[in-house]
Amino acid sequence: METTAISRGKSPDVIPGYRLEKLVGKGGMGEVHQATQLSLGRKVALKLLAPDLAKDQAFVGRFEKEGAALAALSHPNVVSIVDQGKTDFTYYLVMEYVDGPSLREVMRSPLLEPSSALKIILEICRAIDYAHNRGVIHRDLKPENILFDEQAGGIAKVTDFGLAGFAESAQDASKFNLTETHVAMGTASYMAPEQRVDAKSADHRADVYSLGVVLYELVVGEVPLGNFDPPSTRKPGVDRRIDDIVARCLKPLPADRYQKVSDLIAELEPLVPVTLSQLPRKASAVQRAKLALSNAARKVARAVAILLVAAALGVLLGAFLRSRKQELPTSGAELASITGSTWPLTAEGRVDPSGQLERRRVLLGDGPDTLSVVAHGRKPSLVGGAIAFGPVERSASAGRALLDADVDGVGLSLSAEAKTSAPAAGMFSSLRSFFFGPPKEAKSALLLVGEPGRYVALSVGAGDSPPTVEWALGSERRGMMSSAINLGRGPVRLELLFDEKRGELSAFVGAEQDRRLVGDPLDLGPGWKKLFGQMPKGAVGCLEGSCRFEKVRLVVDLPKPPPPPPEPPPEPKPEPKVAVVKAPAKPASKPATPPKRPATAKGANGKKRQR
Ligand code: ADP
Ligand code: MG
Repeated sequence: METTAISRGKSPDVIPGYRLEKLVGKGGMGEVHQATQLSLGRKVALKLLAPDLAKDQAFVGRFEKEGAALAALSHPNVVSIVDQGKTDFTYYLVMEYVDGPSLREVMRSPLLEPSSALKIILEICRAIDYAHNRGVIHRDLKPENILFDEQAGGIAKVTDFGLAGFAESAQDASKFNLTETHVAMGTASYMAPEQRVDAKSADHRADVYSLGVVLYELVVGEVPLGNFDPPSTRKPGVDRRIDDIVARCLKPLPADRYQKVSDLIAELEPLVPVTLSQLPRKASAVQRAKLALSNAARKVARAVAILLVAAALGVLLGAFLRSRKQELPTSGAELASITGSTWPLTAEGRVDPSGQLERRRVLLGDGPDTLSVVAHGRKPSLVGGAIAFGPVERSASAGRALLDADVDGVGLSLSAEAKTSAPAAGMFSSLRSFFFGPPKEAKSALLLVGEPGRYVALSVGAGDSPPTVEWALGSERRGMMSSAINLGRGPVRLELLFDEKRGELSAFVGAEQDRRLVGDPLDLGPGWKKLFGQMPKGAVGCLEGSCRFEKVRLVVDLPKPPPPPPEPPPEPKPEPKVAVVKAPAKPASKPATPPKRPATAKGANGKKRQR
């Protein structure tokens, strides 16, 4: 191996299959180059282990381990690995190329607002929580190792797993021989006290400490030293709750810190009311306002010209403008809050109480049972086991169909296959887009609906927007996450799954091997039903275009040992597990003007069972 070649005058084709373009970074392990992956013609980042380190087995081991750690992770906020290998010349690692600045550079900007700082730290926390759940500890979290992907809308990506460890394997540290040199390579200011003493004994809570340092620095502008001042005393306007969060992350003893990053996330989330992880960080409020103004100016100019020719259109435009004003809520919020017409409907299906006692399945489709579906807004048609929302009528662009099965349980999974189509372009639609830009994207969504205003929605669009999960579970717990997952044009399987054992609600798109998590699981804990206000019901929703849902399926995990009645009820109580609605019934989550409601045999509704 030629030791000098790597540092200077490297030929662009030292690594077969790649062409080095330019040096973008130099760190403790070697060089990072922007390169082209020749087979796919795409930009990648190539990390080359420094030749002098390549002679040391410990560094080679660690370099390989960095690859192994990255390979174990697939998360929107973690840089993804492309390849790893070794030539006669050097060891190399190929990663996705992250084009944006590092957090260090972003921190230097005086324009960084506290709310953006919290959004950033939340994204990093999500990445680290995910890594920990897969047994990977980062051990070198610092602003230099967080890069921003401008192309993906400015989302934060954690890189440099060069000091990473795997939580599960105890022999791991010795296998890769973490020596004093390796310890020295971490950055002291961000390192937990126990990690400074002995890197081998540091567990995932060392990352919690580093997250605390990064959070402090993001808010205050410098790292906490010694008996540091609480952030709110250093920066006016900083929420006092940040002081407690930082203090807890920075406890000298790991046992006194947050034990899980998800606990830290739960405390941060309420401080960042809506988490738009794909929100372009670049556009400031002023820039957005300017953009809106210039767009408006252009539209007005055009509108005036056209109005002179066809004044009659003005009336129509006024009506349309007013309807545009109401387009502020997000898809989930819009679908969860429809209060238009109510349509009690029935569908064929099957309730599957046989076999396993722990589960109850409610399937729309062929079957002997009659299921109750309550629709709001647009009226869907229920044929052949599908719920189909036809083309949009102007009066009601949103429609929701709620599966009114009264099934209480401890966990659940709601899934459906959704096909979303944009509305057919007609004369009116082209006029609309001429004046007001392209119409809102058509969306299909799967929803878990609790009491009014409480829901979780997973939505996908007919266009290129990424799948998004949105939640509103009380005033403190609301947010939104998107994942840059490319969905084809065909039907896509959507799933919302509450895993009782983990206390997590996850959203997935795709089926089987292609099943992908959208965002991160939401940590709702055992009190999850309280967050919904009641046992949530499953629903599908459609916005703007036409949507067709097939294989709609609700599976409820029943409590393990069927709970014995706590006390003899004064009057005969309905069987607690399931009751199938055999006839059109009440609209479950409709707050006002309930339609006439045929008496059902069971006489119990979801509200009775809330906890
Ligand atoms: P080290 O372990 O030596 O610190 P890093 O993985 O942190 O190595 O990379 C060093 C620098 O290279 C980073 O600070 C960053 O500027 C750049 N870099 C690293 N990974 C990427 C990537 N995937 N895309 C673009 N630049 C990167
Ligand atoms: Mg680094």
